[in-house]
Amino acid sequence: MEDTARSAKNTMIADTMRATYAKRKGQTCRVFQCKIQDNKLTAAQREALKMIFVEGKWLYNAILNHSDIDGNSIDSYDTKKITVIHKDKDMNDVESEFRFLPQSIRQTIQAGMKSSVRSLAAKKKKGYKVGALKFISELNSVDYKQLGVTHKILGMNRIKLQGVKGMLKVNGMDQFYGDPDIEIANMKLLNKPDGYYINVTTWTDSDKIIRKRKNGKTVGVDFGIETSFTTSEGEKIRAAVQEPERLKRLQRKLQKQTKGSRRWWKTKNLIDIEYQKMTNRKNDLANKIVAGFTRNEMTVIQDEMLEHWHKGWFGKQVQHSVLGRVKSGLKDREDVAVLCRSLPTTKLCTVCGRLNDIPLDVRDYICRCGIKDDRDIHSAKTMVWLYKNNVGVGRTKMTRGEIRESIEKAVRKPANSMGRDR
Ligand SMILES: [Zn+2]
Repeated sequence: MEDTARSAKNTMIADTMRATYAKRKGQTCRVFQCKIQDNKLTAAQREALKMIFVEGKWLYNAILNHSDIDGNSIDSYDTKKITVIHKDKDMNDVESEFRFLPQSIRQTIQAGMKSSVRSLAAKKKKGYKVGALKFISELNSVDYKQLGVTHKILGMNRIKLQGVKGMLKVNGMDQFYGDPDIEIANMKLLNKPDGYYINVTTWTDSDKIIRKRKNGKTVGVDFGIETSFTTSEGEKIRAAVQEPERLKRLQRKLQKQTKGSRRWWKTKNLIDIEYQKMTNRKNDLANKIVAGFTRNEMTVIQDEMLEHWHKGWFGKQVQHSVLGRVKSGLKDREDVAVLCRSLPTTKLCTVCGRLNDIPLDVRDYICRCGIKDDRDIHSAKTMVWLYKNNVGVGRTKMTRGEIRESIEKAVRKPANSMGRDR
C-alpha cells in the first residue's frame, strides 16, 4: 500500500473508532449466551471447533515462549506466519501449519494476551501480588471481533464463524434476535466441558432499556445467608443452587478409582460437566434476580464484604449461592445505589435514631420506641431511608463521627415521613 493511502486508511479507522466510542457511551452492553447444538454438528465442523482451540493453544504458548526470550514483546510475534512451533505428546518441538485458526483470530489471541499483561501490571501497581502469564494446557475462549467478517448472523439460531465451514445451529438467540433496538457486535467462542458456547455481545441505547421496564419504586435489598435476599417490600428470595446428588455420587466414585486411570479420567470428565451445569444454573438464576431488581427505579444495596464470607464459617453455603454473582451484576449501574459498608443498617432505628444490637440468632428487630420488624426487612428498609436522606451513598469509607452526625441530622429532620411510616 502507498504511504498516503495507508495513512488515509488509518485516519479512517481512527475516525470510525472515535465515532463508535462516542456512540457506545450512551449505550448499555449486554452479553447473551447461546449454546452450539452439538447433535447438529457435521464431522468437519466438530473437527474445526476442536482444532481452533488446539491451534489457539499452540499459538498462545508459542507467543509466550517468544516473549520469554531476550525480553521480546508479545507484540513482536508475527501472527501472519502460517506455521507454529509446539510440543508433541513426547514434549518435543514440532512445527505445524495453521489449518483451522484464521489469521484474524490469531491476532485476537495476541491482543488478548497483551491486555492480560496490561491488567496484571495495573494490579501490581495497586499492590496486589500477581504472577506472569503461564503456559496453558487448554484454551477456553477465542474472540470474533468484526461482525460481517469474522462472524455473521444468518437467521434465528444460525451463526457463521470464520474457520468453521457452513452454519452453526445454536440455542438461545431468542433472547435478542429480531429486536430492532439491539445491535449485535462481538462474539466469543467458548470451549466448556459440556460443549461449545457462543457469547454474543450486544449494545442498546440505554434510555431504550430503561424506558422499557422501570416501575417507579425505590427498593432496598439485604443480602443474607439463609434467605439470600430480602427486600424492603418484604419479599424474601431464596437463591441457592444445590449440589446435585449425581455430582456427590460421581465424587465418591472418583475416590475409589485409581488416580490417572482411564476410568478415573472418565469420571473426572463427568464431574467437570456437572460443575459446568451448576455454574450455568447459578448464572441463569443470578441474571433473573438482577433483572427483577433493576425493574425498580432505584435499587439500594450495601457494600458488604462478600469476599470475606467465602473464608468464614458460611463457606460452602455461600459458595453454592448466587450472592456474589447478583452483587457484581448490580454494582456499577446507574439505577443501583451502593451504601457505605460501615453504616449500621442492621442496628439503626430510623424513627428514634437508637442503635440496637440484635444477635445473629434473633429474627426480630425490636426498638424501645415501639418499632418491631423482621430483622432483614428492617435492614432493607433502613437502606432505603439512608438513601433517601443521602447518608453514605456511593461512599466507601466513613468515620464513626461522620456516620453519627449524618444519621442524627436525618433523624431530626422535621416532616421526616420516611422515618415515621417506614
Ligand atoms: Zn427506635
